[in-house]
Amino acid sequence: MGKIIIEYLEGKKIYACKNCNVHLSNQDYLTSKQFTGKSGTAFLFEKGVNYLTGIPEDKRLRTGLHTTQDIMCIKCQTYLGWKYLHAYEQSEKYKEGKIILEKLFLTKIKWN
Ligand SMILES: [Zn+2]
Repeated sequence: MGKIIIEYLEGKKIYACKNCNVHLSNQDYLTSKQFTGKSGTAFLFEKGVNYLTGIPEDKRLRTGLHTTQDIMCIKCQTYLGWKYLHAYEQSEKYKEGKIILEKLFLTKIKWN
């Protein structure tokens, strides 16, 4: 195992891993709250930090066929959501490179 380097996001309204509080993304990167993950409500983010990615897989989602890879926390390795690598439908191309984080696995830091 290599050394884990954890990034810390600047500013307020940060979303972090509920299990270990590692920063994952923030409100500036939040694109949509209208997604559904394995556990229920999920958020789409422009980008994030401190996550590991799994093996790319083709998955048929409600909105068509996509290539995705699971996302896990870099520190505690809890499953968090997935990353969109490729969308086969033209209308879904905007998701490419973006990440889904499931609400159940997130906590909010510095929202006051
Ligand atoms: Zn974690």
